[in-house]
Order: sequence, then C-alpha cells, then structure tokens
Amino acid sequence: MDAPINPLLAPWEAPFGLPPFDLVRPEHFKPAFERGMREHREELARIAARRDEPTLDNTLVAFDASGRLLSRVEALFHNLAASATSDALQAVQREMAAPLAAHWSAVYMDAALFERIDALHARREALALTPEELRLLERVHLDFVRAGARLRGGARQRYAQVMQRLAELTTTFAQNVLHDEAAYALELRDEADLAGLPDFLRAAAHQAAVERGLASGHAITLARSLIVPFLTFSPRRDLREQAWRAWMSRGEHAGAHDNRPVAREILALRREQAALHGHASYADYALADSMAGTQSQVWALLQQVWDRALPALQRERALLEAARDAQGSREPLQPWDWRYWAERVRRQHYALDDAELKPYFALPNMVQAAFDCAQRLFGLRFTPRADVLTYHPDVRAYEVSEADGRVIGLFLHDNFARAGKRSGAWMSALHWQHRNGFESRPVVLNNNNFARGDGQGPTLLSLDDVRTLFHEFGHGLHGLLSDVRYERLSGTQVLRDFVELPSQLFEHWIDEPEVLERHARHHRSGEPIPHVLVERVRAARRFGQAYESVRYTASALVDMAAHAAAEPIDDVVAFEARVLAERGAPAVAGLNHRLPHFQHLFSGSSYAAGYYVYLWAEVLDADAYDAFVEAGDPFDAATAQRARRWIYSSGNSVEPGAAYEAFRGRAATIEPMLRERGLIDD
Ligand SMILES: [Zn+2]
Repeated sequence: MDAPINPLLAPWEAPFGLPPFDLVRPEHFKPAFERGMREHREELARIAARRDEPTLDNTLVAFDASGRLLSRVEALFHNLAASATSDALQAVQREMAAPLAAHWSAVYMDAALFERIDALHARREALALTPEELRLLERVHLDFVRAGARLRGGARQRYAQVMQRLAELTTTFAQNVLHDEAAYALELRDEADLAGLPDFLRAAAHQAAVERGLASGHAITLARSLIVPFLTFSPRRDLREQAWRAWMSRGEHAGAHDNRPVAREILALRREQAALHGHASYADYALADSMAGTQSQVWALLQQVWDRALPALQRERALLEAARDAQGSREPLQPWDWRYWAERVRRQHYALDDAELKPYFALPNMVQAAFDCAQRLFGLRFTPRADVLTYHPDVRAYEVSEADGRVIGLFLHDNFARAGKRSGAWMSALHWQHRNGFESRPVVLNNNNFARGDGQGPTLLSLDDVRTLFHEFGHGLHGLLSDVRYERLSGTQVLRDFVELPSQLFEHWIDEPEVLERHARHHRSGEPIPHVLVERVRAARRFGQAYESVRYTASALVDMAAHAAAEPIDDVVAFEARVLAERGAPAVAGLNHRLPHFQHLFSGSSYAAGYYVYLWAEVLDADAYDAFVEAGDPFDAATAQRARRWIYSSGNSVEPGAAYEAFRGRAATIEPMLRERGLIDD
C-alpha cells in the first residue's frame, strides 16, 4: 500500500504557491521538517564539497537558494503556531525547537562551507561585484561569523548546545505567556460590574464571554483591545485593580508556567553566548550588528528621552489629579487609575471621547484607508481574492498589483483576536520576494488582535487600533514592495533598528486630516468625521505622550540593563525593580512589558537588547515624514518615489544609513521625534 502523501512535501500548486491549508495536519510537520533539513544538508554538502575556486555563483548564490523546502515548511509552521495554534501544534513546536536550532547551528558552523565563503570574502574587492552582490557576500559572511563559524573545539560544541537550549527556552517562554493569557478572564456579572463601559466594549466583552463559554455574559480578557479600554472606562476601581494585577503578573506565577526561571536561564545563556564571541555582554554582541553599533549610542538616546519625559509626566499627573479632585475623590493615584483619569482629562480639556471617535473607525473603512494611502503613494491596488483558501475563515486575501496591472504579491489580513492566536500585532510572510533562480512573489501576512464586533454592525476600532493597523500594514508594504535579487536581502530582513522605519513612517498618514475626512465615516450614517473632531484629535495628540514615553523607555532601559549586565541575574523581578528605582521610574506609570512576560526579549532573540529600536526608528520616521511636510503634500509624488526606492523596496541590499541619506539627502536629526512626543517645544 502506498504511504499517504504528506501535503507539506508535495508541490504547493494553489495561487501564489500557498500551501493546501485544508489538508495540512499537525502530524505532517515533523516528517516535513526532517525531510527539509535532510535536503538542505545535502544541498550544502554539495556546495562545500566543490573542489573548484569559490565564486559568487557556485557558493553564495547557491547558498542563498538552498534549503527552500525547509524554509517553506518553517514559515508555514511559525505562522500557524502564532495565529491558529492547538495543543498538537504546540507539542510539535516543543519537540522540534531543539532539532531545528541544531540544524541551523550546524549550517552556520559548517567549516568547509565557511572556508569557501571566507575565501571569497577575503577577495571581495577584486571580484568586480555589483553593490547588491557585495552586500550579499558581506551579509552572509557576517551571519556565519556571528553564529560561531570561527569557533573551534570545545567552544564550538558548547556554542551549539547553548543555541539549542535557548531555542527550547524561548519556545517555553512564549507558551507560558499564552497560557496565562488564556487562563484569565475577569467576569462581569451585572450592571454594577458593567457600569461606565461604552457600547463597543460591552459588545466585545460579551463576544469574549461567548468565545470562552462563560455564563456571566461579559468578560475582560488580557487581549489589549479589551484590557486597555476597560482600564480607561471602568469607574470600578476594584475591578480595574484586579484586571491590572492579572495583566502585569503574566508569567510570574509559581508553578509549571513560571517564566522567572526561564528568563533567568535565557539571560545567563546569552551572556555565555556573547562571551564565546569575545564580548563582555550580550548587549555588546547584539549591538555590534545594528545601526546604533554600540551601547553608548543607545543609552544616550534613551537618556535624552527619559530626562525630558519624567518632568513631562509630572505635568500630566497634575492634570489627572486635578480631574480626580474635581470629582471629590481623594484616592491616591495608582497604576490602574492612570488611564481612567487620563480619559477624563482628555474629555474635559480636549472634549475628546474615545467612544465618540469609534463609530468613525469601522474596520473595513480603515482597511480601505490603508489601501488608498498605498495607492496614492505607490500606485498599488488591493483586489479581494475570495477564492483563495487560507488557514482560518477570519483571514481576508488580497491580490496586490502595480498601477500598470502587474501582480506583485498576495496580502493576507488576519484582524481578530481569538483563542489559539497569540496577543499583539505582527507581520510575517509565507514567501519572500526574490529573483534567485525564479521570480518569487511575496505572500505577506498582517496579524492584529482587534476585539470582534457583536455582529450587529462592523467591528469598530479605537484610534490606537487604527495606528496598529497602519503600523503593521507599513511592515506589510516593506515585504510586498521588496525588489531585490537575493532572498537573504529581501523585505524586512534588514538591521533591526531600521526595520520599524517603514511601519512607523506609514502611521503618519492616519494623522492627515484629508485621510481621516475621506475614510473615517460613521458606520451608520456614512457621514465623514466632523472637522471639529479631527481638530480635537490633533490637539489631543500630545496629551498622554509623556505617559507612553515613560512606559516605553522604562522597558527599554530594563532590557538594556538585563542584557548589559556582566554578572548573573538571580532574580529577574528584583533586578527589574532595582533598575527602575535607580532611574527614578515613577511606579504609577508602570512599564510596557515586565521581564516575566517580555516576549520581545524572550520569545525569540530578535529584540533582545533591542527594544530601543522603536525609538531609534522613530528618530528616522519623524525626520522622514518631515520630507513630505517640507514638500507641502503628504502624497508628494517625488518624495513618495524616493521613499519607495530607498525605504520600502531596497530591503537589505543597501547599507541602511546610506539608504536613509539617499532618501533624505542628509542624515536624520533627533529633533522631529522629540517635538512629536511633545518633549521639546515647537
Ligand atoms: Zn513593528
């Protein structure tokens, strides 16, 4: 009898090379990973075994084109594990974390392969390479060096062990956070519990209770789009405190899902990893491959913001306390009170009410707004492809084409929070754009976690949600507009302190009155958002920036301190408290992520000693958007053309500092960022 066919290994013949989602089962992954790793090893062995002189084609280009079965399976797996996981997929994830890490570690420690790449690298000036070819050679060479290719003997073995263990631990860390988020719901049982909640939040809380099968009828989960508005609107101080404590203590519960020992071991292993490379700390190792380059650059940036944000926070605090006093309340301001009183101030001083805005931010209209901006800037069209089969009925598929009709890729939009999907918002890809061997068109995904509407009308977003939508869409454009030859240099695979530039830059268009007036239409009447409301949004924009700046910078400081520490950290919670105390962090503001659930740092390594990158990129995006302001038109064609060429399309094919200067005609300055955050005067 024939063995049943594994759909992961058969050719993927759906449009855009999509996998046959309906046929894929969790048990298909392990054999597919194993076959993918074996094929990859064989391909690499053929490159390494060559006896002829290494050339770009026979070594680097072949390396870039290798491992495609494995990459295809890994990309699909990571997407499903993040957006539509199950116990069975999680079990595969735990089982495969170490073998996959061992595989990649062996690839980059292959001595014979590295010898050819190293030889080529040594002769790079004499090879008459194009700029992109040279960039590929330097990038891949550095990938090998940073993965330990130069290590020998015991150090080499230990390095591989460290990387495998880190892969297991980061998987565990993410699963523990997911567990704590799934385990918690604040049930709202009667009108007294629901007091003060706007309709959209009641609807979302009802939906959450239905999805969790809770009889109480309404529940607040730890999804951002529920917990944040609950803290903002609920006058019930006792419930706010309960929800806040649950939110802040994720990952910090004794027992099987405790992330404190996991984070401690990850930090210790990273210190060892850095030491094997000859660096004093993991921060030094991580920053050596960044635009910032060194710790001192990062500390200086964080310090500039911190020093200005603390006094600005005191000014915001005074407004909050005045609002509290006016209500005749004498309760000392606690972290779970901040958003509630801030919302009161926003209403009083700016006459701005989040619940008043929401009816203008229906999800379908805001998606259209993002598409329309992409069309006006870059000429792109997004055409629904209802015939395309995806992994979940929530997902919307769009074919993306140029102004001349040429189809450049597929965009998958997965917008709703649901069980089995991790929290947060992110961009990923099933296929990256490249032209190495064949023309690969990108298949790009955006995941958000919006609370679904109640079915009576469209899902309504907050202004914050709309910003998130635009942010991820900016990352999406970075993947879709990529125009490079080699996969390693494609799309978002840039230095990590450049990667938030395309996304954060795109957020600026949602603040343009003409974009709001065109797309922010009342979901019932179809009336455009009133001009006075747009003006109030603009006026209120800087209020609350000190709070956000303090919370973000506090997390960035803790990240840097944890990864710069030369000594072992025994207790991550005590360490975090010490760093915050030393910096004079006000407890009432809190921080964006505490170490026991700081997924940026511990669910992978890409933001370890790298949470600062959002701020670094903000220096770039604020300065970049000024180019449109200076041109006098947010859709200025020449500026958009340069943004496309140097920011959205060049991937990693150009050194990021040089790419930025090519766009702007000069290096970025910090003042536009400080001004936008209200930390210096206009
Ligand atoms: Zn981002």
